[in-house]
Amino acid sequence: SHRTSELVARDLTVRFGGLTALSKASLRVKPGEVHALIGPNGAGKSTFVNTISGFYQPAEGICELDGVQLTGKRSHEIARIGLARTFQNTELFGEMTVLENVMVGHQQRLGYGIAQALLRTPAFRREEEVSRRTAIGLLAFVGLEDYANEEARFLPFGLQRRLEIARALASKPSLLLLDEPAAGLTTQEIDDLEAMIRRIAGLGVSVLLIEHHVELIMAVADTVTVLDYGQIIASDTPSVVQEDPRVIEAYFGT
Ligand code: ADP
Ligand code: MG
Repeated sequence: SHRTSELVARDLTVRFGGLTALSKASLRVKPGEVHALIGPNGAGKSTFVNTISGFYQPAEGICELDGVQLTGKRSHEIARIGLARTFQNTELFGEMTVLENVMVGHQQRLGYGIAQALLRTPAFRREEEVSRRTAIGLLAFVGLEDYANEEARFLPFGLQRRLEIARALASKPSLLLLDEPAAGLTTQEIDDLEAMIRRIAGLGVSVLLIEHHVELIMAVADTVTVLDYGQIIASDTPSVVQEDPRVIEAYFGT
């Protein structure tokens, strides 16, 4: 049911007034790989993520998922093409249950309007049952099956993070973009996250991981791309990137 796809960004340039936040950035996430995007603060990571997911428009360059153009499309269209994301600051529906949050992720993909949902048409109710079954399966996948009927806002922070991942997966993405998923997690939770990222890649879903946590990146990434001042300065296996003089300079140079 999940599709395996390739993300290609070519020569993406993004400007904010006189500031060039991204300069001809090219990156390829191969089908089924875990690809980490790292770089010092202000390097342009969030700008990259917000551009490929349709929140910012690039001045130049293109972005494609499995050959389908993403550039110029709006974020909900991009979600339907197969790119799902989590946010640096978790954005859940706090008053909804854990299960409902995941069902919403599934229904957004189907494109049901508010009117159909309110009128509860037969077609909507049939789809709702599919959403429910999908959501129950995903809660088990992320280890939240015992929390299905809790209100999301009462979950501990680490479990809210997992819920956000389950909700993103409910849209059946071919590429999952995780924006600093380890931030604020305990060591044990980061170990769990590592295992979860592997299982997601095991489903054939490509993962683009924006992360600061070096151990997590080294443990889980197939490829690491490094941004510095809006430019990509390295892209290789974790062990090669770790030894790259330009990368060391970017992090520790003055
Ligand atoms: P990172 O996520 O790697 O820390 P960002 O992509 O957030 O970096 O920022 C890259 C540069 O672009 C920074 O200089 C930042 O101040 C600037 N920037 C980011 N977003 C905006 C925005 N919406 N408006 C103006 N400048 C921005
Ligand atoms: Mg950022």
